[in-house]
Amino acid sequence: MSRTLNVRNPRNGELDYTIEAANEAAIQSKAIKLRDAQKTWRQFSLEDRASKLKDFARLVGQHKDEISAALEIDTGRRKIAALEVDTLVGTIMGWTAQTDGLIPTGWTQGRSNPAIQHAPQLIPYALVGVISPWNFPLVLSMIDTVPALLAGCSVMIKPSEVTPRFADVMSSVIAQSPLADILCFVQGDGQTGAALIENVDAICFTGSVATGRKVAIAAATNMIPAFLELGGKDPLIVLEDSNLEHATDAALRGSTLATGQACQSIERVYVQNSILEEFTTLLATKANAAKLNWPEISSGHIGPIIFDKQAAILTSHIEDAVAKGAKVLSGGKVENHGGGLWLNPTVLTNVNHSMKVMVDETFGPIIPVMGFDTKEEAVSMANDSEYGLSAAVFAGNLKDATALGMQIEAGAISINDAALTSLFHEAEKHSFKLSGMGGSRMGPVGFQRFLRRKALIANTGAPAPLSVFSED
Ligand code: NAD
Repeated sequence: MSRTLNVRNPRNGELDYTIEAANEAAIQSKAIKLRDAQKTWRQFSLEDRASKLKDFARLVGQHKDEISAALEIDTGRRKIAALEVDTLVGTIMGWTAQTDGLIPTGWTQGRSNPAIQHAPQLIPYALVGVISPWNFPLVLSMIDTVPALLAGCSVMIKPSEVTPRFADVMSSVIAQSPLADILCFVQGDGQTGAALIENVDAICFTGSVATGRKVAIAAATNMIPAFLELGGKDPLIVLEDSNLEHATDAALRGSTLATGQACQSIERVYVQNSILEEFTTLLATKANAAKLNWPEISSGHIGPIIFDKQAAILTSHIEDAVAKGAKVLSGGKVENHGGGLWLNPTVLTNVNHSMKVMVDETFGPIIPVMGFDTKEEAVSMANDSEYGLSAAVFAGNLKDATALGMQIEAGAISINDAALTSLFHEAEKHSFKLSGMGGSRMGPVGFQRFLRRKALIANTGAPAPLSVFSED
């Protein structure tokens, strides 16, 4: 029995879209077809698969207006919707331009026994599952999909039930493309996601730590690899000799872009006490100048809160901080405009680690700023977190910033900027602590994750007889 799910429009709160959640039987039958088609797909050369992916990218480009129109309703924002489509095309072009040397070939003579040669084989997983969140619906549904397809896998994607409209448009684009038989979206919620994991050979998951844990357990039970990219609580450290114009620009953009609904958002800022007041005054001035993209979608900087339940978390973080002594320098209240929920960039001072806003993932445009005296203190506060996704450091020179960055327990450190991992996808990085597991999705290893190593081992001499191992 399929289930009908209602979908909320983030700009007006109306339930104006429905999806049919795929059930176990529907997923099983799609999985059989994808596995079958993958037998042909994996036989193509890497160059042929790259060429078909480029054809798909061109088709996505031709349908940019329809895809971004759907994403615009899903997310309530226009410019980032269009950028998501451009990013997908760029991602495909980036991966398909670097196929040289990705697949090793030939026989190698053994070091321990020259008579034995080995030839490494790379065998793609037949079917990779991708489960994605609502904050960047298109980019995060395709970020692992593209290298998996290039590696020779087929892929089944379950996007978030909060933002499913774009996936229906993508399905019709895929149907016209050379990927029609080896790539599909299935709509649904957590139940559908759980069923998908039961039918794939590897799972890529982007989402919360709580769901990530369930995915990891299901994957372990089925003995399939799980690549998990989860939440964060990214710190930004600002040393006293930093360029304050740059540091406040980066802090504001890094924590409020996409309404702070980004895993690599700056969620807490530590500023050396000698410049704390100057920094917070400048940051609050810039934060107060930011505008909501309401009533016109094509104006302002801050889109609606996409997932209405997130608004309650933002309010609880602000209220908890204020009750414990925090001061609000800008924003501070979730506003209801015509049924949609918005929050202006909210700068908080007088904060400490007893407050939720400094330790729990906020996922909104809230910028709590705390002072420190010594670099050791700053590093210790930055590391006082169960998350380790990424972090940022501002300093007057690269040497000091690098030295500090090396001490922070996180997988990527932006230096003299913030949240650079959203703009630059070439650097390999792991998610530290609870922020994830399973290898870098960036860089060449992001492709290698989808290939199992198989060793052909040939003896060019005589096989050893049992007598070699005799105890006599
Ligand atoms: P979520 O964990 O609630 O949901 C993510 C996806 O998992 C959705 O598609 C959902 O339907 C599915 N799901 C739910 N229960 C499931 C189950 N039992 N089995 C399988 N699938 C299930 O996350 P969200 O609220 O959509 O996204 C926000 C979170 O994602 C934040 O924590 C954010 O930090 C994180 N995120 C991380 C990254 C990263 O790269 N590290 C990027 C973006 C977002």
